[in-house]
Amino acid sequence: MHCFNHPNTPAIGSCKACCKGLCAECTTDMDHGLACKDKHEAMVETYQFIIDKNSEIYSAAPKNIVIAPAFYLFMGGAFAFYGYRSGGFTDLPFMLGIGFIVFAAVTYISSKALFKEASGKA
Ligand SMILES: [Zn+2]
Ligand SMILES: [Zn+2]
Repeated sequence: MHCFNHPNTPAIGSCKACCKGLCAECTTDMDHGLACKDKHEAMVETYQFIIDKNSEIYSAAPKNIVIAPAFYLFMGGAFAFYGYRSGGFTDLPFMLGIGFIVFAAVTYISSKALFKEASGKA
């Protein structure tokens, strides 16, 4: 492979953003990959940022599937309790509370399935 800009110079690597061959003169070393000098540094930086964020989200998933539903469940319990005390089963806060509890269950089940799928692929 030769440098995209210098057809007679052998390439030392390729840009992570556009995959073109680059010689030392045309390369910016980004720690985690190479980029076209003065051209694709920002793009390679963005790619890396997205990759980092993705792995962060996946590694945090086991915690999130417990915390989010627990929060909804707590909200639901509070709404249902105060709704029932103030107006009984037909009161709006009580209905909202039940809604939150159902939502908590759905969130838990669906995020658990989602995480299973994600970790199965990795
Ligand atoms: Zn490039
Ligand atoms: Zn070059």
